Amino acid sequence: MALIHCLNCGRLMLEKPGYLCNDCLKRQQEDIKNIKAYLARNPRATLIEVQRETGVSLQTIRAMFSDPGLKK
Ligand SMILES: [Zn+2]
Repeated sequence: MALIHCLNCGRLMLEKPGYLCNDCLKRQQEDIKNIKAYLARNPRATLIEVQRETGVSLQTIRAMFSDPGLKK
């Protein structure tokens, strides 16, 4: 176990997959829900459109799509 900084808010925490602290993880899960809802309505939307419409950062969106566990 190593100590790392949360990717989003910089808080020090134990290393874990996703590199986000519990607070940011919770927020990310909300964001993911919003993104999925948006993509369900707009299946051909681009990353930029998703970012603009959901207000989620590109970094979060990219992380979401690069994590196989989140892609359901
Ligand atoms: Zn955080």
